[in-house]
Amino acid sequence: MVETFEQEFAELCQARFAIGVSNGTDGLRFALMAAGVRPGDTVVTVPMTFIATTEAISQAGARFDLVDIDARTYTMDPERLRTYLEHDCVRDPKSGRLTSKRTKGPVTAVVPVHLYGQVADMDPILELADRYGLIVLEDACQAHGAEYVSRREHKRYRAGSIGRAAAFSFYPGKNLGACGEAGAITTNDPTIARACRLLRDHGQSAKYMHDIEGYNGRIDAIQAGILSAKLKHLPAWNAQRREHARRYAELLGDFGERLILPYEPEWSQSVYHIYAVRVRDRERLREHLNEEGIGTGIHYPVPLHRLKAYEHLGYREGDFPVAERTGAQELSLPMFPELVAEQQHTVAKAVQGLLGRPPL
Ligand SMILES: *Cc1c(COP(=O)(O)O)cnc(C)c1O
Repeated sequence: MVETFEQEFAELCQARFAIGVSNGTDGLRFALMAAGVRPGDTVVTVPMTFIATTEAISQAGARFDLVDIDARTYTMDPERLRTYLEHDCVRDPKSGRLTSKRTKGPVTAVVPVHLYGQVADMDPILELADRYGLIVLEDACQAHGAEYVSRREHKRYRAGSIGRAAAFSFYPGKNLGACGEAGAITTNDPTIARACRLLRDHGQSAKYMHDIEGYNGRIDAIQAGILSAKLKHLPAWNAQRREHARRYAELLGDFGERLILPYEPEWSQSVYHIYAVRVRDRERLREHLNEEGIGTGIHYPVPLHRLKAYEHLGYREGDFPVAERTGAQELSLPMFPELVAEQQHTVAKAVQGLLGRPPL
């Protein structure tokens, strides 16, 4: 069942290999280790993500540096990455190796996060990574089946087939969810695939033949079986989510800056894991919708650099203003495949009940 699911999932992602693992966090850790991130290295990611992204980096023995997100897509801002590489790092002119001024460690990898179901703008990120010799690993834990149109290659890519490797989560709430914990790594690189297979299973190359010390990070066969059954429906479910997003935009109307709807650039086909809107007085709208019987979420109220867990790193308010504003204003409206038009009408009515009708 595990092998069958791995094959099916690799196909969905248009990647050569998929390796089933215990969860998305372990998947990201194994991918980092297998791709060559070493203890003491520095890995660049974003402050607007679930903490699992940086947990995996720390668990691989590395440290992280952060670059802010784009104000419209909420994914890694390639310009911020450029500024970071040019100004916050030192490059050894002989070896070309990059050192972070903050961590004093070698910068070896970048982890863009495909947030809310939308792939980060990978073209400029890959270009910068090429120039600086960095490994790119996708945190695709929210982006099963999402697509990215590469302008430089005139080619459509599926999430999970763009970087050296990618991590997916099948936590029950994700677009493809198990009945419990599960995850996967995808890659086109046979060496990385093999290393991930060792890492997830105590380093075993054959029964009781342990080539390295690994982890207990396998996927359960029963989860793989459930995921195989559900995978067949994923394209239809993602299409339904996209249709709901289109209808929300139509029903809610254009409030301009007062209610900012998700932005999907022409190079992206999002799978709307989350339908994230931004509103200045979020608590008021959240309460109002709650009173109308409409549940909402917040993803994520506190950016990583402001979490207690990372207090010791000495970041301050204002360090990543776009992530901070997004964290303060983001509200997730109901989004799931089974959502029906009538429910979306109810949501839109309730939003307009508070904000008024949008100007034409
Ligand atoms: C869900 C998620 C993870 C972690 O996945 P788990 O399966 O819960 O370990 C990592 N990164 C992001 C962005 C996620 O949304």
